[in-house]
Amino acid sequence: MNLAVIGSGYVGLVAAACFAETGNQVLCMDKDNEKIKKLKKGIIPIYEPGLHEIVERNFHQGRLQFTTNMKQTVEQSDVIFIAVGTPPDEDGSADLTHVLEVANSIGQLMNNPKIVVNKSTVPVGTASKVREAIQKETKFPVAVVSNPEFLKEGAAVEDFMYPDRVVIGTSDKQTAEVMQELYSPFVRTGNPIMIMDEISAELTKYAANSILATKISFMNEIANLCDRVGADVEKVRKGIGSDKRIGHSFIFPGVGYGGSCFPKDVKALISIGRKNHYDMRILKAVEAVNNDQKIYLLPKILKYYHNDLSGKTFTLWGLSFKPKTDDMREASSLEVISELKKHGAVVKAHDPVALSEARRLGLDSIIELYEDNYEAVRDSDGLILMTEWLEYREPNFQRLKSLLRKAVIFDGRNIYNPDKVRTLGFDYFAVGRP
Ligand code: NAD
Repeated sequence: MNLAVIGSGYVGLVAAACFAETGNQVLCMDKDNEKIKKLKKGIIPIYEPGLHEIVERNFHQGRLQFTTNMKQTVEQSDVIFIAVGTPPDEDGSADLTHVLEVANSIGQLMNNPKIVVNKSTVPVGTASKVREAIQKETKFPVAVVSNPEFLKEGAAVEDFMYPDRVVIGTSDKQTAEVMQELYSPFVRTGNPIMIMDEISAELTKYAANSILATKISFMNEIANLCDRVGADVEKVRKGIGSDKRIGHSFIFPGVGYGGSCFPKDVKALISIGRKNHYDMRILKAVEAVNNDQKIYLLPKILKYYHNDLSGKTFTLWGLSFKPKTDDMREASSLEVISELKKHGAVVKAHDPVALSEARRLGLDSIIELYEDNYEAVRDSDGLILMTEWLEYREPNFQRLKSLLRKAVIFDGRNIYNPDKVRTLGFDYFAVGRP
């Protein structure tokens, strides 16, 4: 099929590459000229395991092309995916400016009937708005589909290639068949393609992210309670996770969730509730718990240093909001850095892949960034573990101890064994562990 994907970010680029991988002709479009220039040179603007190989292969084989030209994008394609950003507006609702701007351009440039697929995460009712925006501009028929994306950054290619399910929101039978054909190579093991109405498809995406965020905030509250009653949250976590009804995923306590999706989607669902005269009480609590959780270690750090951090130096291991990504949107590290700076501390940091993103965000003007995680801890008054990258899990503790000015670890992701690190001579603080 001739496809277009508009928006070449984490979702758009991965979708375009994976659709090309299954033999489609894909035009990947973005209004960001620099991004498209890089992609044409074979440079992938984001860090995503496995993406480089698949983009390179399909680009060289001529199935994947990059452009900033909207006219060419619309005219050459039968199915057009919209994968542009939907950032939170001031009131927390999803800002549809980019989505509707694209819909408007598609309408103006349509040269024959098209299927337009909305992959961006959008509030209920957006498919209708997109349809109206297109139909206002053209006489050609258009079918608008809601097809939310469930991939995770850090495993985006794998998630797209082997989805747990594909959700297609459309009430048109023929359109549903085209979408099923497009996705059938990805569900050969029998995972379902679910056809539903557009509104339910739109809501499914927010409900999925919100329940995952809820699990995290719930578990963080249990961890915070463990700290107060002397229980070990790691034991509690295993104890509840073994119950099949609960499961082990998304119950790892720590310093909160971040990223481009959970914070904004929780906010957006609260806003959808508000607009429909329903108070989303649980989600409001989920958000409040998470906002506090990001700096949960700070009182422990302050107490350790008798409320005086001025002139002290701290090293953060991990800047990205989670491992295997360079994405720092809403990362807990940013909050911790800001709090430490407010208290007069000097901050140093290491991250395996997010240093260039940190520089792009201007972080290098307020903290010191290190390519080597051991160099980053030299002469520091404490190590703060922010992101559970694999390479931080089994460090050389003797070396760490000899480099630190003060042998203390504040573990924001509970990755170390408290007994082991204490036996090695460290003071150790975690989240919900005695
Ligand atoms: P992103 O910011 O990485 O990429 C969006 C891209 O769209 C940018 O490159 C931007 O330049 C481009 N763009 C914006 N307006 C445009 C326009 N008018 N024409 C052409 N290009 C335009 O965003 P993302 O993380 O890929 O997210 C995209 C959507 O997918 C969001 O709604 C998000 O909530 C949703 N989503 C994201 C993830 C994720 O893990 N990142 C997962 C599932 C769903």
